[in-house]
Amino acid sequence: MGEYIPNEGETIDTDVLVVGGGPAGMALGVALAMHGVDVTVLEGSATSTRSFRGESISPDSVFVLRALGVFDHLSPASYMTVDGLRIVDSGTSVLSLRFEELRRDSELPTEVPQDVLLDAMFVGADHKKLRMIRAATVTELDRTSGRISGVRFRCNGIMHSVRSRLVVAADGRYGTTTAMASLPSRRKPMQRDLLWIKVTAPESWDRSRYQVRMKADSHVMCIPTIPDLVRLGVNIPPGGLREIRASGLPALHDRIARLVPELADTVAEQIGSWRDTSVLDIFTSYTPRWSTPGLVAIGDAAHTLSPVLAQGVNHAILDGVVLADLLPSALTHSTDIAVDDACRRFQALREESVEAARSLQMRQELAFAQRGIAAEIGRRSIYRAIERSAFLKKRIWGPIYYSLLNSDSVARQAVDRLAAIRAGARVEV
Ligand SMILES: Cc1cc2nc3c(=O)[nH]c(=O)nc-3n(C[C@H](O)[C@H](O)[C@H](O)COP(=O)(O)OP(=O)(O)OC[C@H]3O[C@@H](n4cnc5c(N)ncnc54)[C@H](O)[C@@H]3O)c2cc1C
Repeated sequence: MGEYIPNEGETIDTDVLVVGGGPAGMALGVALAMHGVDVTVLEGSATSTRSFRGESISPDSVFVLRALGVFDHLSPASYMTVDGLRIVDSGTSVLSLRFEELRRDSELPTEVPQDVLLDAMFVGADHKKLRMIRAATVTELDRTSGRISGVRFRCNGIMHSVRSRLVVAADGRYGTTTAMASLPSRRKPMQRDLLWIKVTAPESWDRSRYQVRMKADSHVMCIPTIPDLVRLGVNIPPGGLREIRASGLPALHDRIARLVPELADTVAEQIGSWRDTSVLDIFTSYTPRWSTPGLVAIGDAAHTLSPVLAQGVNHAILDGVVLADLLPSALTHSTDIAVDDACRRFQALREESVEAARSLQMRQELAFAQRGIAAEIGRRSIYRAIERSAFLKKRIWGPIYYSLLNSDSVARQAVDRLAAIRAGARVEV
């Protein structure tokens, strides 16, 4: 199977149909194929190419990607690790952290362009079990006796269908599959959007850490990126892109220069057009029910997160491997009740970890939005108190970055089983 082009009017039969080949859909597809399940991924784009999106991979996901064998298909030049984080508020360093303070001898956050990662996941997958159809947009769900039983999709202008025992909505933050399945979702906008740019990092720049530069309610997130770049996420008012553009590029250059003066010249030289920028509208979405008979949502389609601490890709990947662990035994039953039960169990197992990440993100979103001298002094005092306490650092960031090793035994077992399969062991799930 592997890369597949459907014949005209073909109806494809598969056990699990995944809508969307982003990090969630690919992690699920790769892991299900490792478990020996027949899986089809329909991806709307013709290629994996995407810029700025989800390039920071949290240590837990790095651990998962190793178990899946993905690093065997990534050239060492295509990614870099980051070993710390620094927050600078009004020109003073208020908090600095090395990831080894949280967990010694473990994985580090890793920066890899998302298209490179997705291609490596596909190349390393078991193509006997995984069918990938690109430029395939799902437009409708099929139902049989009230249960979702497949989809219709358009590929190269021609409609096709898929019949499956389970449809997985992995179509991301703007996906429409959950709405088609009548799974209501509520969006909560944050008090900022982010404008992303990439520039060359000056030689003197510390590329070993993430940096957040803040001043009042302005901030820039600085993320080192291969080969020698730094990705800058500049906060703008929510929905404020038109206004920012109306004030002109020099105003954007100044905004960045005020917070990161050492990048002022580089930004002015290298960001010469709005085409060099990309906007992330920041919201988080709550979907109370992730599944309905015949369909389950994963990744951003189930729970869009804020970009704080790069947890979107992480939870997308963790969702994929945990669901893949639950489905093989459910699919051996001749009725679909076990499959639907597995989907409900999936939400019960994953929700707590997603909510823990969201809750930390919400606290940081609040800190970003502080305005006024008293609030800023309060914010700096909190950062400084954390800075002085190894206990607080571990308590705050440990469960977010290292949940597989610290607390999330369900995800850990799922990953261990995949690692065992990869090593050639026969695994019962
Ligand atoms: C600008 C930006 C920067 C970000 N930076 C980070 C970061 O550094 N770290 C991090 O962890 N997260 C980051 N995120 C969030 C991260 O990208 C997402 O959380 C993550 O990609 C979610 O993975 P997913 O597979 O659930 O969804 P997506 O990555 O959105 O993938 C969904 C896929 O479904 C496809 N699709 C949609 N509709 C259909 C359809 N009808 N039929 C077929 N296919 C369809 C889309 O083409 C897409 O490929 C960023 C997001 C943005 C927008």
